[in-house]
Amino acid sequence: MPHPSRTIRIETTGGPETLKPVDLEVGEPGPGEIRIRHHAVGLNYIDVYHRTGLYPLPLPVAIGLEGAGVVEAVGEGVTHLKAGDRAAYAGGPPGSYCERRIMPALPVSRLPEEISFETGAAMMLKGLTAQYLLKRTLPQGGLQAGDFVLFHAAAGGVGLIACQWARLLGLQLIGTAGSDEKCALAKEHGASFVINYTQEDFLPRVREITGGKGVKVVYDSVGRDTWDRSLDCLRPFGLMASFGNSSGPPAPFAPVVLAQKGSLYVTRQVLFTHIATRATAQEMADDLFSVVRSGAVKIRIDQRFPLAEAPEAHRALEARRTTGSTILLP
Ligand code: NDP
Repeated sequence: MPHPSRTIRIETTGGPETLKPVDLEVGEPGPGEIRIRHHAVGLNYIDVYHRTGLYPLPLPVAIGLEGAGVVEAVGEGVTHLKAGDRAAYAGGPPGSYCERRIMPALPVSRLPEEISFETGAAMMLKGLTAQYLLKRTLPQGGLQAGDFVLFHAAAGGVGLIACQWARLLGLQLIGTAGSDEKCALAKEHGASFVINYTQEDFLPRVREITGGKGVKVVYDSVGRDTWDRSLDCLRPFGLMASFGNSSGPPAPFAPVVLAQKGSLYVTRQVLFTHIATRATAQEMADDLFSVVRSGAVKIRIDQRFPLAEAPEAHRALEARRTTGSTILLP
């Protein structure tokens, strides 16, 4: 029996206006798959990269990599979920901007009762990213309480979760953000120091805060606008953890630059490598659920849009008008 699913799809890459509603029907899940009915869908910056074609996808395609809802059916071989389970996920293939979908069961976890669907949709991709950055993307010798890290766009979706998690780990997170209001929000959520990088050069401030030593890690999702000065914020042997391009991809660079700046390490990370196996996806989700249930990490949903208004949600995200998480409601 076909199941209707109003879906937001792109037929060509381009601006937010390319996000168009279509009425599709989905069938039954195959081996290793589930059918999930979404109660809420998460908006992420990667959706913009998919829409613009910075990360190319075969077209036409429904975008979106995060959602929460109820499992309607499971395919052969799926053992960790059953019909009727509350569930949430971050993971592909893209296609979460819809009422219901069929998808691989692997990245989908059961959602604890005390976590709402809206919170589930707002936290999986961004929270698992904060998890792998602060716990699995580490400099030589790891990170210890008291260590300085620099985190750009600290008032964003990933950013506000990272601020709170860093506080829990005892790290001194220096957060950058694009307005004084955003800086105040990052501070309130656990950043030890904040810098409005639209008003002030963050490099001399980071040097001053760290007594001239520099930070052990820079977590950089802004890319082009912050790359060069981020390298200069690192102490010798420090780690440049690049994980996004919200201002555009960084320019190519010569490896010798890393030697000149103090034998630095550079990595470009993506969540999907970390959650490629069911065991790790569940272990990381359990870690996230535990900090959310304890109240140590609160998930802020600062914007809600009906799914049909996905273009407006994209405009807000790209114009830097959002803070915390944004969800789309089918
Ligand atoms: P955010 O809520 O953080 O939104 C992006 C923020 O980036 C903006 O609010 C803005 O904050 C900042 N920014 C700086 N320069 C620009 C610019 N030129 N245009 C637009 N925004 C800019 O988004 P998410 O939480 O969804 O994602 C944060 C980043 O992390 C993104 O780059 C995303 O791609 C990346 N990411 C990477 C993952 C991975 O595994 N590699 C997984 C998840 C996210 P401000 O005004 O304060 O500067």
